[in-house]
Amino acid sequence: MRKNIVAGNWKMNLDYQEGISLFSEIINMVRDERKGDQIAVICSPFIHINSLVQLSSGVVKIGAQNCHQNESGAYTGEISAKMISSTGAEYVIIGHSERRQYFAESNAVLAEKTNIALKHNLKPIFCIGETLDERENGSYFHVIEKQLEEGLFHLSPEQFAHVILAYEPVWAIGTGLTATPEQAQDIHAFIRNKVDVKYGFNIADDTSILYGGSCNPKNAEELFAQKDIDGGLIGGASLKSRDFVDIVKTFN
Ligand code: 13P
Repeated sequence: MRKNIVAGNWKMNLDYQEGISLFSEIINMVRDERKGDQIAVICSPFIHINSLVQLSSGVVKIGAQNCHQNESGAYTGEISAKMISSTGAEYVIIGHSERRQYFAESNAVLAEKTNIALKHNLKPIFCIGETLDERENGSYFHVIEKQLEEGLFHLSPEQFAHVILAYEPVWAIGTGLTATPEQAQDIHAFIRNKVDVKYGFNIADDTSILYGGSCNPKNAEELFAQKDIDGGLIGGASLKSRDFVDIVKTFN
């Protein structure tokens, strides 16, 4: 069954105390106000993860924003999928455009990260999306297809069933420019069709595809009403408890 998911990506924001305080507000509000069976996730910096898992008692799920592609070893400063999983966190964002751009993460590395995340029972929230140049020169369908093929389509159907996709047009991230619901729906339908061709109707129909990029309580309703949009990956608005929970409540 396809699930509706609203995932916050705190990025590199909030010190330890600020994170705990924001999360405490979020879980109280989600506990009191959520009516549907939508899933709320917070992907925090690593320093918060363990405490958030303890605080949340499952009301809000916890994820990381990245993991290393290797099992363990001499990779100073890195965090492994096994470490993340050992805290009780259940999700990990893989292939965010900021990782692709600032840390030169290629589709090939992201494929390895996906493998190790799945091995340790983390659900990857795998991000894809085009830059402004790619949108303007019309190559965006090709770019997205390549990200899917090289990053994910080596997975078996059983593995792929644990993956959540997030379409985040790079030009809409943190810019206040949102894709129109029609633009987003077009790409989401394209993505679902690619999954259908590769893995068949049932898996494609069950795959949650989230939209990310300047999503807020005002535009969430129209975006999430689209047939192939199953929730959002929320940056800036996830740093405000009221805004984040209002986006979660779009599915009430
Ligand atoms: P904004 O919601 O701040 O545009 O960020 C989107 C994003 O990158 C979520 O991963």
